[in-house]
Amino acid sequence: MTALASPPPFAATDDSFTTYSTARHFIGGSWCDPTSSRTVQEVLNPRFGKVIAEVRMGGSDDVDRAVHAAAAAARAWSKWPIRDRAHVLYRLRELMVQNIDELSWLVSHENGKIFSEAKAEVEKGIECVEYGCSLPNLAAGNQLEVSRGVACEVAYESLGVVAGVTPFNFPMMVPLWMLPQALVGGNAFILKPSERVPLSSMRLAELLRHAGLPAGVFNIVQGGREVVEALCDHRGIKAVGFVGSTKVAKAVYARASAQGTRALCLGGAKNHLIVVPDADPELTAENIVASFTGCAGQRCMAASVLLAVGNVEHILDAVRARAATIKTGKDLGPVTTQAARDRIAGYIDGAQRMGATITLDGRKPDPSTAVPGGYWIGPTIIDRVTREMPVANEEIFGPVLSILRVATLEQAIEIENSSPYGNASSIYTSSGDVARRVMAGVDAGMCGVNIGVPVPREPFGFGGWNDSCFGHGNITGWDGYRFWTRQRKITSKWALQRDQNWMS
Ligand code: NAD
Repeated sequence: MTALASPPPFAATDDSFTTYSTARHFIGGSWCDPTSSRTVQEVLNPRFGKVIAEVRMGGSDDVDRAVHAAAAAARAWSKWPIRDRAHVLYRLRELMVQNIDELSWLVSHENGKIFSEAKAEVEKGIECVEYGCSLPNLAAGNQLEVSRGVACEVAYESLGVVAGVTPFNFPMMVPLWMLPQALVGGNAFILKPSERVPLSSMRLAELLRHAGLPAGVFNIVQGGREVVEALCDHRGIKAVGFVGSTKVAKAVYARASAQGTRALCLGGAKNHLIVVPDADPELTAENIVASFTGCAGQRCMAASVLLAVGNVEHILDAVRARAATIKTGKDLGPVTTQAARDRIAGYIDGAQRMGATITLDGRKPDPSTAVPGGYWIGPTIIDRVTREMPVANEEIFGPVLSILRVATLEQAIEIENSSPYGNASSIYTSSGDVARRVMAGVDAGMCGVNIGVPVPREPFGFGGWNDSCFGHGNITGWDGYRFWTRQRKITSKWALQRDQNWMS
């Protein structure tokens, strides 16, 4: 297989339309094309709706090639002392810090999020790398003398070749939810990034190479469903991490588990924020708007439903006033595709037809800031939503807030708990008792008090409940290390106590 040139640093230093290299596989330390010729897909910059690169879609033969390269590399890599493995991540961190603007522009151009959001994503990715750097200090196993002269100990060992499948909305951060723990754990990794955003992970591969990661320890196979299914089916892959929509998370979990492959699959979300009358209006409004409009609402932690308890009219007015100041195209980026834009607009149309009130309408954004051709939808607030409306129940994944009015806190909690999802839920209040009741009562894995995006920062693990997560535990933090490693339990008896039986 001919090795192709490495992708260069991304040249853009602002929003201006800039093209990039073709997205290819990275296997065994070389850039290469699919083995058999397959489809080529366009990578679009959503701000312009124009092609910035192409991605060569792979297949099961490419997965097999990557598994062989990774298995060969994993044997030597797993023998490196954990500190030496972590030192590669120290160097990766330095390279990411040095190149943060370039990486952030690449994320911004391929995903559409504005530069400050892209930079925050890269910073969060760096934080995940830092967690990986700290693992040698955390990963010492336990040891105990369980009976006289007999010791049990636990050691965390690598699995071998593992794989990660990631979504379009965080092209740099989500791969870094998985990589640090998997690599420091001694595994070789195969990444299948979203075919809509395959470019950032190419730069990640180059930075890892410069950081001293041996060839074959990190590999990329580009593609879509065929590649994901081949990763699930391949007997050489020992664990699959997945982040994406619930439908696919469930399918990937079932398929990988059917092979006996360890799987942790994070899915979609429908996050509820509860607001009660004693909430601080300014903080609450600012926070809720940041939550539902940030990254154009394309975050699995974004606010989607606001449960307004009692008379909170003054807060709803403040939310609307704040959201109305956001300039689409300047403060708010586009959504990922034209189809996503049309789907989101369809939800708003449907709610209106069913009798909801659109108090802020993003369906026709201001052409003076939103570039023609881009996939724009501005901040939208739908009030007087009822429980049977699709906007109350389905993941919209756009900058849309649906307001349901309820009389009591108990009703709000009951609505939250009727959702099949369980990613995030927040309460806005100045009462400790109300906060405590909500935190104890909602059926969600990541909860917030006066925080609209309650992401557990490192070292705390990230992961939801119910239909937002299939498999056990969180994907980041210590759970992540446990997911990507296996525990060897060693029981030793060094003294030969001939006068006692072996159990003594
Ligand atoms: P997606 O499920 O469409 O795609 C995710 C990955 O799966 C991609 O790499 C894609 O190529 C692959 N894929 C798509 N269809 C497939 C199929 N039928 N079989 C096998 N693989 C397939 O998700 P997306 O649109 O890229 O991302 C948005 C979704 O991800 C939202 O639902 C969002 O809530 C969710 N998300 C969840 C989290 C979380 O932590 N829970 C984080 C980020 C995004």
